[in-house]
Amino acid sequence: MKLNKHKPAQHTEMEFGGTLGAACIPVFLPLTVLYLLSVCRTPGGALLQWPPPLPHSTFLWDPVAVAIIVGWIGLQSALYLLPVGKESEGLVLRDGSKLKYPINGFHALCVTAVLLAVCVCLGMPLGYLFDLVLPLAVCAVGVSYLLALYLYIRSFWAPANQLALGGNTGNPLYDFFIGRELNPRIGSFDLKFFCELRPGLIGWVVLNAAMLMKEVELRGSPSLAMLMINSFQLLYVTDALWNEEAVLTTMDIVHDGFGFMLAFGDLAWVPFTYGLQAMFLVIHPQTLSPLSALGIILLNGVGYYIFRKSNSQKNQFRRDPTHKSVAHLETIATATGKRLLVSGWWGFVRHPNYLGDILMALAWSLPCGVSHILPYFYVIYFSVLLVHREARDERQCRAKYGLAWDTYCRRVPYRIIPYIY
Ligand code: NDP
Repeated sequence: MKLNKHKPAQHTEMEFGGTLGAACIPVFLPLTVLYLLSVCRTPGGALLQWPPPLPHSTFLWDPVAVAIIVGWIGLQSALYLLPVGKESEGLVLRDGSKLKYPINGFHALCVTAVLLAVCVCLGMPLGYLFDLVLPLAVCAVGVSYLLALYLYIRSFWAPANQLALGGNTGNPLYDFFIGRELNPRIGSFDLKFFCELRPGLIGWVVLNAAMLMKEVELRGSPSLAMLMINSFQLLYVTDALWNEEAVLTTMDIVHDGFGFMLAFGDLAWVPFTYGLQAMFLVIHPQTLSPLSALGIILLNGVGYYIFRKSNSQKNQFRRDPTHKSVAHLETIATATGKRLLVSGWWGFVRHPNYLGDILMALAWSLPCGVSHILPYFYVIYFSVLLVHREARDERQCRAKYGLAWDTYCRRVPYRIIPYIY
């Protein structure tokens, strides 16, 4: 195989704090995951405590955790390869071609759920994952590093037109972090698409189920708060996998290369921080009044409705603008030939899907009460992420659509929250 000496792209703007960010984030974020998990298991549950609850190194390593992570990724890979579901095409690539993707994530979730139910019925102690969570997270971080290293090295054999536009700066630290190759594949196995929605996302709800089982072990039955968090997050993950095709038009797949940022995010950050609320409830039980439970369920419902409707509307519009569900919407033309929606959900604010996502995130934290900040970590982090993501997307859209984007911004002045932001 021929090693390709790619010329670094000229004037590529570095994101995430450039070289400094690329050097610090891969150290800081894995430590954050371990710290949050450690705090979550202390009775105090306080994020700022002195001395910090650092686990002894013997609690960070367990060969059983390695076997579980390897077995888990192996199982999800096998389910990815199952010849069920349909095959879908991604958007047109720079060389004019389109890649094909298996859309069977929902099947993978269902098979996983059945396998898990059978194992639990046969006596598998699922709640044990609560005790094993630190070594599991350490192992997931290790896998992300190894995967990112593999991706970085193999990208030098990829043709230049298969590199992400922002990932070929020639700065090894930054390129390793942000990802050089856009769609790395082993045969037809698409590594980025697989990691986006399978091992981490399904792993997240399995960990939630484990926390529920741990609660049952400790207190005899699951609490209302635990049931709500499990149900809300299961709905979110099921929705993502049911609408798996929509991921093919997201920034992660279309624009970003596959490097440490996405590998770590998908395999370690999502499963081990998004479910902190369920883990928090194991040690810090909460009682919810029926009225507050109803209010939180309503909030989650409203958030989900906005999130789903707006994402589906844009996805449908991008796939087939003449479809009857979107053909009546007002649009503006751009120099690229693509049009922008200026009515419907995308005329309400410029990122209605982010608004729905943030409302849901809040609903996932509220069942944990207001005594601790820790269960609010997700909604705080996620709001920051989406504000930053919105700014990145805005920059890319302005570069793509120029004056038409400015017109859109004038017509729809608010970014995420009407009259506020
Ligand atoms: P979006 O789905 O918001 O897509 C942004 C793209 O949509 C733009 O680049 C542009 O692309 C197109 N677009 C923007 N405005 C318009 C318009 N008015 N009319 C038509 N097209 C428009 O991107 P994300 O990938 O950020 O988000 C997808 C979903 O995933 C969101 O709901 C988000 O909240 C969620 N998400 C969740 C995360 C999590 O960790 N839970 C992390 C990140 C995202 P183009 O014009 O080229 O088509």
